[in-house]
Amino acid sequence: GESPTEETVAVIGLGRFGSAVAESLTRLGHEVLAVDERPDIVQKASETLTHVVQADSTEAAVLAQLGVGEFDHVVVAIGTDIEASVLTVLACEEVGVREIWAKAINAKHGQILHRTGAHHVVYPEAAMGERVAHLVSGKMLDFIEFDDGFAIVKTKAPAEAVGRTLAESKLRSKYGVTVVGVKQPGQDFTYATPDTVIAAEDTLIVSGATTKVEAFASTT
Ligand code: ADP
Repeated sequence: GESPTEETVAVIGLGRFGSAVAESLTRLGHEVLAVDERPDIVQKASETLTHVVQADSTEAAVLAQLGVGEFDHVVVAIGTDIEASVLTVLACEEVGVREIWAKAINAKHGQILHRTGAHHVVYPEAAMGERVAHLVSGKMLDFIEFDDGFAIVKTKAPAEAVGRTLAESKLRSKYGVTVVGVKQPGQDFTYATPDTVIAAEDTLIVSGATTKVEAFASTT
């Protein structure tokens, strides 16, 4: 149905990443046009998506015919074939797409995509690899990094904070991090206040500069 927040999104390239993007957008209630040049991929995607077309996205005329220029957003999810990825971003730009998102497989590819007109470039493999590295090697239970080196992590409670209020343990002045939320086993997260007392078995949500939260998590 037409909800006020419904957006139209074209997803080009239905590999593992593109199909995950298209399926999530559909589940969130957006109107999705999915495009791939391979008939077998299109056939498979049609099982879960409503609008799937087989087309070569490197041709601006093809995109124009599909009405891609009228979409609110386009996600170019072609990775391995860098030439096809770059030509598709160019073609999107040519047909007047308002907002182009593109997946890059490395930094050079990402630079080229920016230069060719992509407004947002994502590096799903590098980003997930970094996240997993934090989870495997550190004490973090979860890790999300935003642009500009800011992160939010889920950690265990550090011993020095146990049995004290957040005001008493002075984690902000000592480590430069802010405890945002606290969770006791089996309970929901609550927002942290200066009066929140930390227990040994608590899980914390902590935010701050990436290097600061990394240093903090390694003490837990
Ligand atoms: P992933 O790593 O997420 O699986 P891939 O780069 O392997 O991503 O997959 C990209 C998809 O894009 C493939 O399904 C491929 O058929 C499709 N594709 C590649 N070139 C074009 C093109 N010119 N037009 C449309 N689809 C394309």
